[in-house]
Amino acid sequence: MKTLGKYSIGLGDRFGHQGRAQLKAIISASEKGIEITPVWNKSNREHITIGTQPEDVRAEADSVTNSERFNKAYFVDADHINLDTVDRFIESSDFFAIDVASYIGKKAENKDIFEFLTSVEKYTGELKIPGIKLSFKTSKAQITQIAEKYLFAAVKARDIYRKIEKVKGKDNFVTEVSMDEVPHPQTPVELFFILKMLATENIPVQTIAPKFSGRFNKGVDYVGDPKKFAEEFESDLMVIDFAIKEFGLPENLKMSIHSGSDKFAIYPTIGTLIKKHNKGIHLKTAGTTWLEEVIGLAESGGDALDFVKDIYFKSLEKIDELCAPYADVIDINTSLLPKKTDVMKWSSKQFAGSLRHIPGNKDYNPNMRQLIHVAYKLAAMKMDEYYKLLETNERIVSECVYENIYNRHICRLFNIR
Ligand SMILES: [Zn+2]
Repeated sequence: MKTLGKYSIGLGDRFGHQGRAQLKAIISASEKGIEITPVWNKSNREHITIGTQPEDVRAEADSVTNSERFNKAYFVDADHINLDTVDRFIESSDFFAIDVASYIGKKAENKDIFEFLTSVEKYTGELKIPGIKLSFKTSKAQITQIAEKYLFAAVKARDIYRKIEKVKGKDNFVTEVSMDEVPHPQTPVELFFILKMLATENIPVQTIAPKFSGRFNKGVDYVGDPKKFAEEFESDLMVIDFAIKEFGLPENLKMSIHSGSDKFAIYPTIGTLIKKHNKGIHLKTAGTTWLEEVIGLAESGGDALDFVKDIYFKSLEKIDELCAPYADVIDINTSLLPKKTDVMKWSSKQFAGSLRHIPGNKDYNPNMRQLIHVAYKLAAMKMDEYYKLLETNERIVSECVYENIYNRHICRLFNIR
């Protein structure tokens, strides 16, 4: 079976220019003794907005790994696909994040629910995770509710999985099941029964992406109670460990965190807990490499600074249209967005400082950062000019990309100093 390494990171590169800088961050981690499998992910939404094809991500991943003589495993992730969108990803991807969010809450057939309930009867009353002091009260009513909410989604996940398997062949790809893009988090008990459903449907799931408590907005820090997150995350780790043994799921099944990037407040906790329990992790980052491109261009000054200022001005005009597809994963306080007349006078340093996520820096503005994060469509509309600027200013831009992935993400998560 094509298996994902113990540690892996999902890298987004919307415009396909930063694969090399991202890979360099992976290589730096390896030099510090942390082996991380790179996975390049791009969702259907991003492809449509920019006008790229899944093959483009494959070409980039193959090209940068080849030119850097990176001879370890790497993957291309069809991110958040479902039955309607999977087709054009099948050929070029070898990692599939099967998104079941839209199927959650729809009821499976009564006979399937009945069969499932029979198969989990022994967990009624109490779900005890052996080896550690962790147990959850359960009831028949509660498990029925879980089945009614999630079983249909598991059946759909199987349909999607089979569709991919038919073309690619069993064992030739990594399967993730994601359910993070929903309004409410799954509890550890729900996760346990969901894993049972996936096992029953014979899906060799290697990573599972639940929704956690708190907000995972794109490109900005975690909003929520880090202590509560730690408890929930640790329980989930233990539940996965138990489910692997109990249901015969793949040995290397691990948690996938769709972080939305930049969850600095919880990275050290995640790192500590996976180390404590000797577990793997897949950390999926969002397309914030695009933000690093904007920051790098701002720092480059001249035409490049003018270009990114113009992107910001246009994003203010089109704010509603740009934010609509991301409404659930951004929180922008528009009254705190800097005014056009002020930004016109800004230096490179001020513009870059407003966007770069350095907690505590007085220039940092998470509202502006989130707006620019969703404004990549505006660069896609002037693609030739944008690519030319990226190429002219490659050195500064790629340094920003590298620095972000390595120092702000990998070092925090794996406690590298
Ligand atoms: Zn996600």
